[in-house]
Amino acid sequence: MTENSNPTTLATPAQFLPGIGSMRADKLAKIGLRTAGDLLFCFPRNYEFPAPPSKVDQLREGQSASLVGTIVDAEIVSRTPGKSIFGAVVQNESGAVRIVFFNQPFRAEQITFDRRVMISGEPKLNGLRWEFVHPKVTLLEEDEGIAKPKILPIYPLTEGVKQNEMRRYVSTAIDALCGSLTEVLPSDLRDQATQALRAAEIDLRIPLPDIHHAIRSIHWPADASDLTAARTRFVFQELLVMQLALAMRRRKLTTDLRSTPLPTSAMLDARITNRFPFELTGDQKAAMLAIGRDMGRQFPMNRLLQGDVGSGKTVVAIYAMMLAVGNSHQAVLMAPTEVLARQHFQTLSRMLADSRVRIGLLCGSQGAAERRETLEKTASGEIDLLVGTQSLLYGIEFRSLGLCVIDEQHKFGVRQRVQLRSGGVDPHYLVMSATPIPRSVAMTMFGDVDLTTLREKPPGRGGVNTYLGRDQWRQRWWTFVKKQLDEGRQAFVVAPRVSAQVTATQGDAEEATTEEDVSSVESVYRELCSGELAGYQVGLLHGRLSSDEKRAVMEAFADGETDVLVSTTVIEVGIDVPNATVMTILGAQRFGLAQLHQLRGRVSRGTHAGHVCVFTDGEQSPEEFERLKVFEDTSDGFELAEADFKMRGPGDVFGARQSGLPPMRIADVMNDIDVLQVAREIAQATIDEDPELSDPKWQPLKKQLMRRYGKRLDLGDVA
Ligand code: ADP
Ligand code: MG
Repeated sequence: MTENSNPTTLATPAQFLPGIGSMRADKLAKIGLRTAGDLLFCFPRNYEFPAPPSKVDQLREGQSASLVGTIVDAEIVSRTPGKSIFGAVVQNESGAVRIVFFNQPFRAEQITFDRRVMISGEPKLNGLRWEFVHPKVTLLEEDEGIAKPKILPIYPLTEGVKQNEMRRYVSTAIDALCGSLTEVLPSDLRDQATQALRAAEIDLRIPLPDIHHAIRSIHWPADASDLTAARTRFVFQELLVMQLALAMRRRKLTTDLRSTPLPTSAMLDARITNRFPFELTGDQKAAMLAIGRDMGRQFPMNRLLQGDVGSGKTVVAIYAMMLAVGNSHQAVLMAPTEVLARQHFQTLSRMLADSRVRIGLLCGSQGAAERRETLEKTASGEIDLLVGTQSLLYGIEFRSLGLCVIDEQHKFGVRQRVQLRSGGVDPHYLVMSATPIPRSVAMTMFGDVDLTTLREKPPGRGGVNTYLGRDQWRQRWWTFVKKQLDEGRQAFVVAPRVSAQVTATQGDAEEATTEEDVSSVESVYRELCSGELAGYQVGLLHGRLSSDEKRAVMEAFADGETDVLVSTTVIEVGIDVPNATVMTILGAQRFGLAQLHQLRGRVSRGTHAGHVCVFTDGEQSPEEFERLKVFEDTSDGFELAEADFKMRGPGDVFGARQSGLPPMRIADVMNDIDVLQVAREIAQATIDEDPELSDPKWQPLKKQLMRRYGKRLDLGDVA
């Protein structure tokens, strides 16, 4: 067989690389390494940094070290087969150490008198002399002086493949392929990026290297700066490709889609804002300004309005809806739950009571006739504002839908587009989220969306005090709760749903409220009614109740007929009862930070200070304790979100699959945020200048972009 008859390409099956063969190829396939290209781009998951050469008097027992010196003595001490011993002495200016090998008599041939070597391993004190048993020995050339110890790659392994074998296979792939790799980053772009990265204070001693250099150095870096440069190149490349794709998509959304312009005017603006019974915060004003600008254009607004619970997002949404109505178009407001839809309906009805705006409500508990009437009035245009739960609003007919507002949308990614079109045009979209999104995530998963943040809270809020409850405080806590109730306040008690299903697939169970096991809330309810809270009016709310029952329970609480509401996390989203100031969260270790913060938001809505106490049940792990400690210490939703993302990863918080973006191979958007920022700016400038990347110099990069993102982001016809 002539090995060179077929040159190796990226697609060559791994088994045809020298030294691999079909048996090992099968093992490698188990970790997804099928081709020579897979091996080449199997980046080390870590590196072994050998300790810099030490002096003899710096050696410490059990601490790995390396030493450069000359062999001054070398002999086979015992030749007994199976018990042979080879020993040698390495000497330099700082002293001498002994090295020993058992059953490796061949060492005597390499480690010979007068050779310069570098040894590394863990020294042990044997009597008065340091000894290295089975150290790693590197033979140095005469003139090599103090050799630089090599940084070794550490690869992910699979059963039956050892680290040194893996290193060999990857090296084989590098030798076979490195020369033929296509460069996707033109050199002027690399220079531009290098400058921008340095300006962003990324410690790049070496400019971003070309692909040939980078691929060698990511596997076998010459030193730490070389590794940084190579890694940064690949991180930048990966993020740039993503950001170019997102920039193309943003552009496409503005050029391919049509919406009716719904412009604002000084008069309309005044007419709307005069309805609000309070002074708007600066952030609210800024958000309204941006929305007014967006909605005046003939392509859809695609804006995400994020703000901590209680930051006043609803008012901003009302402004946007009134812009639509003021321009003789309809608006729809989608809420995730019926409770919330009804609450919005009431808020809108109250605020627009003396206006000509006609408001409709669509939700599951309505009768067929009522529902049909609402649908008819929506289609005929007799209803201006329609509020409802999301699922009921898909595919219904509007006379002229101008704006779609989606409230409390946590799971919203680049692929998420609501299918609501009317008369061949798309409505403008405003999405509201109370889960604050860290900058890194906003730039990636929400990369094609414009972002507005309400950071400022409306004035006159009482603030919230959070306590991490200990078991021995329960008594005192309930005494405090009762004192608050006696002062006329109201209280929430939140208990987790506990069931096998919930713990197994938390994400799905979130939606499957009808499936929930409510036994734990029910037993909490019973215990409190007959125990701590005997004599108070206590309500019970959970997802198993019918819509009517839920509504009745909520209304009784909102009207102050009940003092305490025991509930599952149904109350998490948006419920507004300003008089409720105390919340007890049980089994708190089961909740995510974002969720706890949402819950806490329920008691910071009035002028009285809120109090939240979280109790855990059972033993909690150190991580759980850490998480709850962060919750106790941090009241800022953005800081909490950052912490949550760091602890759980953005995927868990948002649902990685929801985002529509493929996972990153080397970049870590939380830690590589500065590179992400640079990539985003360069991508935007590049697309502004050459929207379709048609310059020949972009072809390799564009090909990579289309392969990775073309289908996912519907960039198809850009190609
Ligand atoms: P969220 O952002 O959680 O949806 P809301 O829009 O429900 O917050 O606002 C919370 C409460 O604050 C509501 O009762 C609302 O009427 C009130 N509010 C909103 N904006 C202001 C403001 N600028 N000044 C005073 N109160 C405000
Ligand atoms: Mg809200």
